[in-house]
Amino acid sequence: MDVIGKTSKTYTSAPGAEDKILELKKFKPANRSFWAHVPDQLWEDWHWQLRNQIQTHAQLRKLGLQLSPEEIEGIALTTHRLKFGFTPYFACLIDWNNPTCPLRRQVVPLKQELKTSPGETLDPCGEDKTTPVPGLIHRYPDRVLLIANTICAGYCRFCTRSRLVSHSTYFWNPQSFNEQIKYLRSNREIRDVLISGGDPLLLCDEKLAFILESVRAIPHIEIIRIGTRAPIFLPQRVTDELIKTLRKFHPIYISVHVNHPTELAVEARTALEKLADAGFPLGSQTVLLRGINDDPAILIALFQKLLICRVKPYYLYQCDPITGTGHFRVPVQKGLQILKSIQGFTTGYALPHYVIDAPHGGGKIPLSPNYIVRITQTKVIIRNYRDQICEYPAG
Ligand SMILES: *Cc1c(COP(=O)(O)O)cnc(C)c1O
Repeated sequence: MDVIGKTSKTYTSAPGAEDKILELKKFKPANRSFWAHVPDQLWEDWHWQLRNQIQTHAQLRKLGLQLSPEEIEGIALTTHRLKFGFTPYFACLIDWNNPTCPLRRQVVPLKQELKTSPGETLDPCGEDKTTPVPGLIHRYPDRVLLIANTICAGYCRFCTRSRLVSHSTYFWNPQSFNEQIKYLRSNREIRDVLISGGDPLLLCDEKLAFILESVRAIPHIEIIRIGTRAPIFLPQRVTDELIKTLRKFHPIYISVHVNHPTELAVEARTALEKLADAGFPLGSQTVLLRGINDDPAILIALFQKLLICRVKPYYLYQCDPITGTGHFRVPVQKGLQILKSIQGFTTGYALPHYVIDAPHGGGKIPLSPNYIVRITQTKVIIRNYRDQICEYPAG
């Protein structure tokens, strides 16, 4: 039985979806009212944003912002596991009158985080078992993930690496880095190094230059990738100096973690355009999150808005079964229906791969709606995005 084909709705069929998409695609600047007294020069300084990171309920109260009882309890009970924190800039994108604001839900904990659902663990993708030297995850034949630091400008409550970030015992240090470089040097099949974290762009320019220079000096490394949320949580980080530092080490690809179209404010767009102008191919990573972006109109708006910013939607992740994230998870079947309602209805570039990061280091597995009805010796029977059946020669 082909459930997807029978139950899929197209986003175009939802009344009012077009207007919603247009509204979500508008680029708006962050509303700075709470920090109106801060001079522009400080506001635009990423160090100031980090020094003034919101980390307590008291800071929000002082600004006159009200939290719900679930949030207050959430902050009190969960932040020993994963720090509570986001920048003043990001606070200005949040709708504080709406407890279900999709940006708020990503960074303000609820007490539901205390609940461990079946199948949840702190290392669901088995990263620790594929770590040959500290801070290096070697899961695939030709590429590795290098954890360059363990802090972020904002802490996502569904963080896949919450066991390592924010309170971690692992920080960037020269000894581990030497070991990592030695490993990369002696494993000549590695041609792609993905620098992640934490957020590597929270390192200073000098340290980034040192890391990139060391990796670039290894002849068999072809491409370097940087995974970051800085354009979203801290667009001030994308300075001319940073661009100058990074572009010396091309080819560098940048993967930006974005989950909702309103994260793409004017400031984020400017940061992304600067990166695109400097020649960094940009891709996005989105986590499918219940009540945040599990809606075709929201994802269409997000993916189309990313294309406007010259970012190619790369991955849509099924939310990993991290301890305490059950309230964020969307059924895989629904994820497939959403994907089906996007494919064909918009630019092919807008469509990311929907993937599950398999347990035990199994790697990312792409999921696709089923377009095949039947394959015989002579023909394939397939359905198109509008569920029209077509017959095609088998070969
Ligand atoms: C995601 C990931 C990569 C990169 O995978 P791609 O599919 O090439 O983007 C590499 N190593 C690890 C451990 C990863 O989780």
